[in-house]
Order: sequence, then structure tokens, then C-alpha cells
Amino acid sequence: MASHTDYMAASRKSKQQQKTQETLAILIAGVACLTISIYLFGIGNYSLGLLFFAPVTFGAFWILAVEVETRCGVITKTTGRPCRNVTYGLLFGCSASHHHLGKFLTRIGVQKRALATAQQGSGQAFTNVMQPSITGNPSGKAAAPILVKIDEDKKAKVGYWLMVITSVATVVSTVTGLATLH
Ligand SMILES: [Zn+2]
Repeated sequence: MASHTDYMAASRKSKQQQKTQETLAILIAGVACLTISIYLFGIGNYSLGLLFFAPVTFGAFWILAVEVETRCGVITKTTGRPCRNVTYGLLFGCSASHHHLGKFLTRIGVQKRALATAQQGSGQAFTNVMQPSITGNPSGKAAAPILVKIDEDKKAKVGYWLMVITSVATVVSTVTGLATLH
């Protein structure tokens, strides 16, 4: 009979496979769009070139945001240590009670809601709320209370900024492409 650990390992493996397949599909679609985009730029159709370039940067953003295997890294007051669980993408934490949304809300700087989510999740109020230091959120300098810190290695930090750049690039390419389309 399969033990709980076996089941967990199998479930993690199938999740890994699913994420690998999704990443591959995105990469293939990305290469196709990039090829078309380069061709369009070559023949001087910059508007359509940009519109085909947007899915390339969006694909890169998506892979970084929800596909790459990484560590959760959420530090909460209850544990005081970075969570070692595996999670997918740099945007959300692992499936532990409030890590998933907590990391995301901290990322986008919605600290009050992150705090509320944490209190729901842990069933206790945070009396001594942590101050941000390594939140990966540039506006984290503010004195606002914050639920979690995110412990990240260099790779994850670089990934986070690539995520910001690719999302901006996607919006800029789409808007510019549409605005100049005629
Ligand atoms: Zn976690």
C-alpha cells in the first residue's frame, strides 16, 4: 500500500511534469511568435511586428511568474524561518495556509490585505508585525506593517526583476503596436 509520503512524491512529480509541459508549450509558441515578429520587422511592418513580439515577452513573464520551480521562501512571524516548500513561479508562495496569497500580496505591495489573509490563515493576530527588508517590493520601504518577508536567493531576485521588465515590455509592445496599426 502506498504511504502518504509516496502519494505526496507522486503528486509532486505529476505537478512537475505538468509544469515542464506547460513551459515547453510556451517556449515553442514563443519561438514561433518571435520568428514571425522578426520577419515582420524585416519587411518593415513594425506594428504587427510589435503585436507578435508581445506574446514572446508575455510568455517569458508567465514562465517566471507561475511555471519555474522555486522555493516558497515566505518568512512569517510564527516560524521566523524561510519556508522551504517547493512552489512554482516567483509570484505565489506554496500551498501552506497563507503563503500562497501572502507572497503575492506582499509582492504587489498590498500589505494590509496580506495581513488580513494571514490572520485568517493562522487564526491569530500578529501583534508584533515585521518590518520589510527583503520583500522584493521596491515600495516596501514605507513604514506600513507587512505580513511576510520573502527570503530569496540571487537567482530569484534576478527572476523577479525580469518578470517586472517582461510585463512592462508586453504592455508597451501591445499598446504601441495597436496605436500604430492602420
Ligand atoms: Zn510556504
